[in-house]
Amino acid sequence: MATPYKLPPDLTIAIERSILYPEETWYCLAIFLFVVGCFQWGSVLHSKLAKRRQPTKSVDEESTSATTTARHGYSLRNLPLAAVNVYRVVAYRWTLELGNYTLNMAEVFVTLGYISLLITWTFINTTNLEGKKFDITYWSNRAGLLAASQFPLVTALGTKNNLVSLVTSISYDKLNYVHRVMARSCFGLLLIHAGSEIYNFIYFDAALHETWLRLGITALVTLGVLCIVSLRPVRAEAYEFFFYTHFVAVLIFLVGAYFHTHAVHGSFWIWPSFVFWALDRFIRAVRVVVFNHSYFGFKRGSGTMDATTELISDDLVRLRLRRPRHFHWSPGQTAYLIMPSVSTLPFEAHPFSISSIDSTLFSSEANEEGTENGEHSTKPRGAAYWKELVFLINVRGGLTKLLKQVAADKKTVKAFVDGPYGPSPDLGAYDTSVLIAGGSGITNILPIFLSVIEAVRNGSSNCRRVVFIWAIRDTDHLHWIEDALYRVHELAPSSLNVSIQIFVTRENIARRESDSMKLASQDQSGGNDGILAATWLKIEAGRPDVKAILKDEVSWASGRMSVSVCGPQSLSRSVRHALRFPVSGPSSILHGGPSVTLYSESFGYA
Ligand SMILES: Cc1cc2nc3c(=O)[nH]c(=O)nc-3n(C[C@H](O)[C@H](O)[C@H](O)COP(=O)(O)OP(=O)(O)OC[C@H]3O[C@@H](n4cnc5c(N)ncnc54)[C@H](O)[C@@H]3O)c2cc1C
Repeated sequence: MATPYKLPPDLTIAIERSILYPEETWYCLAIFLFVVGCFQWGSVLHSKLAKRRQPTKSVDEESTSATTTARHGYSLRNLPLAAVNVYRVVAYRWTLELGNYTLNMAEVFVTLGYISLLITWTFINTTNLEGKKFDITYWSNRAGLLAASQFPLVTALGTKNNLVSLVTSISYDKLNYVHRVMARSCFGLLLIHAGSEIYNFIYFDAALHETWLRLGITALVTLGVLCIVSLRPVRAEAYEFFFYTHFVAVLIFLVGAYFHTHAVHGSFWIWPSFVFWALDRFIRAVRVVVFNHSYFGFKRGSGTMDATTELISDDLVRLRLRRPRHFHWSPGQTAYLIMPSVSTLPFEAHPFSISSIDSTLFSSEANEEGTENGEHSTKPRGAAYWKELVFLINVRGGLTKLLKQVAADKKTVKAFVDGPYGPSPDLGAYDTSVLIAGGSGITNILPIFLSVIEAVRNGSSNCRRVVFIWAIRDTDHLHWIEDALYRVHELAPSSLNVSIQIFVTRENIARRESDSMKLASQDQSGGNDGILAATWLKIEAGRPDVKAILKDEVSWASGRMSVSVCGPQSLSRSVRHALRFPVSGPSSILHGGPSVTLYSESFGYA
């Protein structure tokens, strides 16, 4: 009778560990996500509770130094808050600049932490029974299975509707960075797996004829291509090329990986990726159909949701469409627009911030009832910021360039909407809010500004001072939001100190005028005189000195302060730098200074 073949003891242990360690890696990741989720949701809850706190001190509307609570000098009771602020500065405002890449310390920590985790679980306990360290039998296959085990998470993080975003309350576009880091780290692990197998697997040449190995090699090569194609320069220069290559390559990779891991009973790590991907697509498809039903013939009135376009400056298109019936959004959120008649490829979906606000307060009916300060506007109402979806679209090189041609003729286009996506900062708990926009970044900041006014009016916000700063190239750009600014002025309650500061950066004006000179009287363009002459608006030439402005605001404020910024990278960078130590440092907090939270939107993944 033949004795059954017994695996060598080292191999038995190696197999056991290559099954166990990917699971343990998952436990580590799950704990990490849980902790992050607790902090994030704890912070959301804290904001909600803080909102209930009633303001204690009224503020003179004319005052330029409005604060909610007086500073009480040095107090050790502020120590926990000081610690939170130190964490915010170190994690999100300290950055590592690598050429064009800017990573904040939180991203650096996640990257290094994740790579360390993978390396640790690959090479831990690899001493064989004879005492030889790093025995290849122990870590070669383990590296492959460990990488395979990560792909459900990698896939989930790359989708727009994902559970991780829900658990951690971190928006999908911020998680996209982690998606790329994880995929590239796993590629590294798979290279270790492949290299060590080529070196160690004595039947490698013979196995090359077998499908499972060929599919494994195909998957590895495809993932390598994906890693190259997803580098930022490629995404920036040829987004559609990246997008479609990514789509096809992911499919090839996952199919290859499924059959390759099937040979070692590891394919259960791969198939969930298909489920997550399909679920995301399904949710998006349902949204597109529900929000754009008039195009799908479910109701009469087909085409009533066509979008109107207009070229409001050389490089900016305003696109407006009626709000789909069930579509609701919050300030700062994004929607994807699909415009098959404009785009080169039929399913191109491009993200744009919704510049309008989902509120009735700013609607004309509400406005006609009267205003807080008794004034009635005599201004013509240009662009609506309610009841419809408004997008301000910067002209770049692809779809947006084609859209510019359409907008130049004021044509209407079929626009399918998918969304809303992304976070909406809840500023209700802040005593002071500083909102900074650069150019078309106004599309993100304006609805946030309007929502602060609304929240203070309806008593759901503690805000006592809001500072709105907008840097534009030309005074003409004020037209874009003139209507909304008038309404802000009309509707702002007296308890709220509103400061509107416009900075005109156009070179010839900046050269002609001294930095602080008001431009209203110099404006010869005719159309702008009204808003330029308004006394409730400060217009200056030159770039805003965000460092000085924020330092001033922090020195006056106490309690909680939010700073939101959207615009060019350079503007976001200046704001981030301005809010480091000492402005937002422990000493400021211990002396009763405000606890500062920064919200930054950069209109890009990278
Ligand atoms: C969350 C978010 C919100 C945004 N909001 C606005 C906004 O309110 N107004 C605005 O003008 N722009 C906004 N953008 C940027 C806008 O999506 C791109 O400028 C636009 O898609 C460029 O299209 P294009 O074909 O003309 O670009 P191209 O000339 O092909 O590329 C220009 C840049 O846009 C990026 N890009 C191109 N296509 C896409 C896409 N489908 N998804 C993501 N990035 C892409 C490229 O990587 C490149 O960096 C936002 C981007 C994001 C991620």
